Amino acid sequence: MSNSSQDTYMAHKIVILGAGIGGVAAKIYNKNAIIVDKNEKVTVFPRMIQLLSGYPPDHILYERHVDIHDTVKSINFKEKLIIMDKKNLSYDDLIVALGKSQNYSFIPGYKYIYGFNDMQSAMKLKMAVDRSKYICIIGGGYLGVELAGTIKGKNITIVEAGNRLLSGLPERYHKISLDILQKLGVRVLFNEKVKEVTENSVITYNGRIKSDVAIFTGGFTGNSLISELDIKNKNSKVIVDEYLKSKDYDDVYACGDSMAIENSIMPMSAIIARSSGITAMKNALGENRKFIPDNFANIMEIGDYYFGDFFNVPVSGVIARLIKKAAIAQSLNFARSI
Ligand SMILES: Cc1cc2nc3c(=O)[nH]c(=O)nc-3n(C[C@H](O)[C@H](O)[C@H](O)COP(=O)(O)OP(=O)(O)OC[C@H]3O[C@@H](n4cnc5c(N)ncnc54)[C@H](O)[C@@H]3O)c2cc1C
Repeated sequence: MSNSSQDTYMAHKIVILGAGIGGVAAKIYNKNAIIVDKNEKVTVFPRMIQLLSGYPPDHILYERHVDIHDTVKSINFKEKLIIMDKKNLSYDDLIVALGKSQNYSFIPGYKYIYGFNDMQSAMKLKMAVDRSKYICIIGGGYLGVELAGTIKGKNITIVEAGNRLLSGLPERYHKISLDILQKLGVRVLFNEKVKEVTENSVITYNGRIKSDVAIFTGGFTGNSLISELDIKNKNSKVIVDEYLKSKDYDDVYACGDSMAIENSIMPMSAIIARSSGITAMKNALGENRKFIPDNFANIMEIGDYYFGDFFNVPVSGVIARLIKKAAIAQSLNFARSI
C-alpha cells in the first residue's frame, strides 16, 4: 500500500505520471490529481536546440511544482500500484504521461553517436560540438533540420535516407528548408543509408563522410520503461483507444508521446500532448470524450528563419516567430500554474 499522505483524503485518486506538457495539462484540468515527476525542473524542448547556439541551461529548464518528486520504476496494474524509487503509490485511475526515449542502438558503432532527447544528452552534445570541426547529422526530420540551422561555424552534413527533408510534412517544407540550409552552407545528402558510424566518420552504402560528431535525430519512441510493463504497447507507447484508455486496463489512460492510438499515426508534438492530456483527464473523471487531434500550428525554426502553418495558413518571418514564442510562453505559464 502507498504511504502517501494524499491517500487518506482523496475519494477518487487520479495519479498522473510525468509533469511534461501532457501531464501538466491534465493536472490543470483537475488540480486534485496527484502529479509525479522525476525532474524538479521542466525542459522546454523547443528551446533545447538553442543550447547549441550558446544559450545557458537556465533558458531551457524551468522550475515547476510537482506533488511527488520521484522516479517511476514499475507499475503493478493489477494491484493498482506505482513502484517508485523512494516509495510506492496507489491509484484509482492512472494517466501515463511519461514522454519519450530515443533508440539508435541498432546502428553499428552506436557508441560513437550522440542523441538529443533530454538535457543530459543535449549538454553532452554541446560539449562535443564545441570541440569539433565536422558534424554529421543523421536524419533530415525536423530535429535534424533545426539542429543544422542552429550550429554555427562548423562543417555540417545532413545524411537523409529518403529523397527529401521533413518527409511527414508538405513538400513546401522540404523546399524552404533545403534552400535555407544551403544558404547556411549545410551539405544535404539524400538517399544515403547509414551502414556504420566510427570515431571519425559516418559510413553509408555510397561512401564515407568525415565526422567528429555524429548526431542521430530519429529513433524517438515512447518512454522505454513502458515496454517493460505488463501493458500492450507499440514502440514503448501505451496502446489506447480513441478515448485514450488502455486496451488492457479500464483505469489506465495515456497521453502525449506515451500514447499510441490504435490505427492512427499521431505526431509527437506539444499541441497533441496538451490536448490529449486534457482528454485523458476528462475521461478519467468519468466523461466519455473521443480524442480529436488538432495540430493547428507547426512552426519550424532554422537558424534565424521561421516558417510553417497556423490554422492551415502558411506563415513565415516575424509572424511565425511570434507564434512560436507565444506557444512557448503559454507552455511555461501552464507549467507555472500547477
Ligand atoms: C529537441 C526537441 C524539440 C522539440 N520541439 C518541438 C516544437 O518546436 N514544437 C512541438 O510541438 N513539439 C516539439 N517537440 C516535441 C514535444 O516536446 C513533445 O511532443 C512533448 O514534450 C510531449 O509531451 P509529453 O507530456 O508527452 O512528454 P514530456 O514533455 O517529455 O514529459 C514527460 C515527463 O515525464 C517525466 N518522466 C520521464 N520518465 C519518468 C520516470 N521514470 N519517472 C518519473 N517521471 C518521469 C519527465 O521528467 C518529463 O517531465 C520537441 C521535442 C524535442 C526532443
